[in-house]
Amino acid sequence: MPTLDTVTNYNTNLTIKYHSSRVPSAQQCKTLADCLELAKKAVEKTVSQLDTFISQKKMDPLSRSIFKHHFRFGDLTTDSLPETWIDDLKKVRRVYAAVKQGLNQPITISDAYSTELKAQQANFAVNLLSNQLTAANHPFFNDDVVYVRTTGTLPGGLAANTPYHVIDAHVNWFRLATSQGGAAVVVANAGIGTHTAYEIKQTPRGYVKPKKNQIKDPNTNKWTANQLGSIHINFQMLVNSTKSPKITVARTIIHEATHKFKDTEDFAYAWYHPAEGIAPAAAYNSMTKGQAMDNADSFAYTAICLYKRQLYTKMVDSLYS
Ligand SMILES: [Zn+2]
Repeated sequence: MPTLDTVTNYNTNLTIKYHSSRVPSAQQCKTLADCLELAKKAVEKTVSQLDTFISQKKMDPLSRSIFKHHFRFGDLTTDSLPETWIDDLKKVRRVYAAVKQGLNQPITISDAYSTELKAQQANFAVNLLSNQLTAANHPFFNDDVVYVRTTGTLPGGLAANTPYHVIDAHVNWFRLATSQGGAAVVVANAGIGTHTAYEIKQTPRGYVKPKKNQIKDPNTNKWTANQLGSIHINFQMLVNSTKSPKITVARTIIHEATHKFKDTEDFAYAWYHPAEGIAPAAAYNSMTKGQAMDNADSFAYTAICLYKRQLYTKMVDSLYS
């Protein structure tokens, strides 16, 4: 497994950590540095626009439509803002101000190695006495959501196309539950054929707080120090793409920076990818205002929209720069 042990100080403000087996070119480093600059500019412009809205107590229709879509703000028929809006805009501004300050300090961007982040799977047998699914050195952690399939007949009690939650994960076995931390599914028989437990997830563009199943030191099974604290960007997705729109990387940097500097959540993502079976953003559009005002993608998209002065509900091909 590659490790993040190689460092380039691209400039005084940007440290790039990468896998020694995948050295980014000077151009790729420059692209990443440019994306960081773009992210900074978008956030700076957002803060200054928010200052104007707050001080003038007015907001133009386009900006209102952006706040309606991404932060679930309501409708107004005039440009004049009620006090409740001013209060909410101040809360939003606090997050951007923290991100602006954070991105202007020296920052480390590390390579999130996409092949290490891909969905995991493992063939398993069953121990009927204990409802254990046995699989040597399986990749699952408690609370992972997995599905099961088989070449023959699934063990009694398990069904295909059904999300299960991993519980009691040990090195060579685990149990499944139908809810997070719930009671173990009772396995009635061993079934027939080769059974596989597998995850369905999209390779992330980036992350900042390591999550389960992301890169760990294989010897200690712990996050290594240099994987903590960085903004991780998926270089492989970014630099191998013939379309590597800087604005998408800048958006990802802003998204991760809101996690890093203001501890935002991921209630829902604005983007969708039909080819990967990700549904249109129904979850995004049904967030409460309170959730949206603590949702990383809401901040990332709003900054891009305010920077470009256009309402984007997802990233589009024309947004290359
Ligand atoms: Zn996130």
